[in-house]
Amino acid sequence: LKEQLVRKGDYVWELPKNTVNGQKVPVIIYLSDALFELLEEDAIKQAANAATLRGVQKAIYVMPDVHVGYGFPVGGVMATDTETGIISPGSVGYDINCGVRLIATNLQSKDVAPKIKELMQEVLKNVPAGVGSTGDIRLSPSSMEEVLVKGAKWAVEHGYGLEEDLEHIESFGSLPNADPSKASHEAYERGSDELGTVGSGNHFVEVQMVEEIYDEEIAQKLGLHEGQVTIMVHSGSRGFGHQVCTDYLKVAVRVLPKYGIELPDPQLACMPFLSNEGQDYFKAMCAAANYAFANRQILGFKTANTVRRFLGLSWEEFGYRLIYDHAHNIAKIEEHRVGSKLKKVVVHRKGATRAFPPYNPEVPPAYREVGQPVIIPGDMGRASYLLVGQPDSMEKSFGTACHGAGRVMSRRAAKRLVKEQGLERVIAGLTVVARGKGTIMEEIPQAYKDVSEVVRVIHELGIAKMVARLKPLGTLKG
Ligand code: 5GP
Ligand code: MN
Ligand code: MN
Repeated sequence: LKEQLVRKGDYVWELPKNTVNGQKVPVIIYLSDALFELLEEDAIKQAANAATLRGVQKAIYVMPDVHVGYGFPVGGVMATDTETGIISPGSVGYDINCGVRLIATNLQSKDVAPKIKELMQEVLKNVPAGVGSTGDIRLSPSSMEEVLVKGAKWAVEHGYGLEEDLEHIESFGSLPNADPSKASHEAYERGSDELGTVGSGNHFVEVQMVEEIYDEEIAQKLGLHEGQVTIMVHSGSRGFGHQVCTDYLKVAVRVLPKYGIELPDPQLACMPFLSNEGQDYFKAMCAAANYAFANRQILGFKTANTVRRFLGLSWEEFGYRLIYDHAHNIAKIEEHRVGSKLKKVVVHRKGATRAFPPYNPEVPPAYREVGQPVIIPGDMGRASYLLVGQPDSMEKSFGTACHGAGRVMSRRAAKRLVKEQGLERVIAGLTVVARGKGTIMEEIPQAYKDVSEVVRVIHELGIAKMVARLKPLGTLKG
């Protein structure tokens, strides 16, 4: 399929509709020349498969950090008609509402850089991370239900953070369609002791500094300046969300014949959005998303508190302030222009970030003139970015940007590289802490694309605007 892509602009490639059997809409892929080289045939195939699904609208969009995922590529965006279309658990992803949060502080890099090793040891001690890590919160079924309905608000009510944090979270940190009764007993079990934990693999907590500002005016409105210390959190809904996805993929497979759905790939198993099963998944997915919002609220506040105490500062001196928190694995009902009409659609964003422009009602009042903050983690060595959503995002990608750098190397290949070259050499100069070495080996900067190139494409397309580059000072890996 790669040879059949048609170049439509400097950063735009199209797989025309009907290239594969039953393909209802084109696939639009956003890439620079350098990133085009890294594009996998199977990722195109997955996007084309999704373009055959019932009720799919306008186009499947693919972000420059794309790589192959479960059924639908990471970096993929799909919108389906709310009345006639499907909802697809695999196109949301296993880690429902995996996402990122960025916290600003009053600290300068010189306040923490000399002590970063000791500081990160302290973070390692206080913030649970790693495979199957558990936290100090135990959720009875009834308190779990509260978490699943309230999301980040539950965390704030229990002392993790400030009321005003909620203004600076996508959907205010709680999705109204959540129904805790639609999640299984197993999901409750798995989620009962994992709230406030980072998890494993690519999830992390990072202390960073603002290394460069690209837009002074916007940076000022966001309260950011060069040298400032920030904290970034990347985690999701842990075992709870994973179980919800697992459960509803099984349901979807079971009801395919009932709804007469035929698929090019069983991993795309889906349900009509308006069917009972589709609605059940949507409500359970919203509950899992709320779990993730609560999780990041706790993680961000705990990390900030650890840094504050380590430095012996009052909250006032520390200057905790949530810049923003958003999902990058989620399905949401939104209104978008399709042809000449405004239409209600189910926007699936998998490894993709909402990037709404200035004056969109979903953008919090403090940011109304600059647009929604878009947080793009890069890797533990090079950089991460903060952008703001721009008007073109609505036409070009259903209001969506990339979500990270995206992998170029499998976990196994990364481990092999580390074994060949030695871990000390591969991560020389970086401060990384973890319970085990395994995830560090899988997560080396070399395993990822260059985030600067990915973000440049998004900026050049006018989807989101670069505001600041953030450099990692110390990273806690899962
Ligand atoms: P994903 O959601 O696909 O698991 O990961 C999101 C993105 O996080 C990845 O594409 C990668 O660019 C970024 N990332 C992974 N590990 C780290 C890390 O340790 N530090 C930072 N800043 N970014 C990371
Ligand atoms: Mn993620
Ligand atoms: Mn995740």
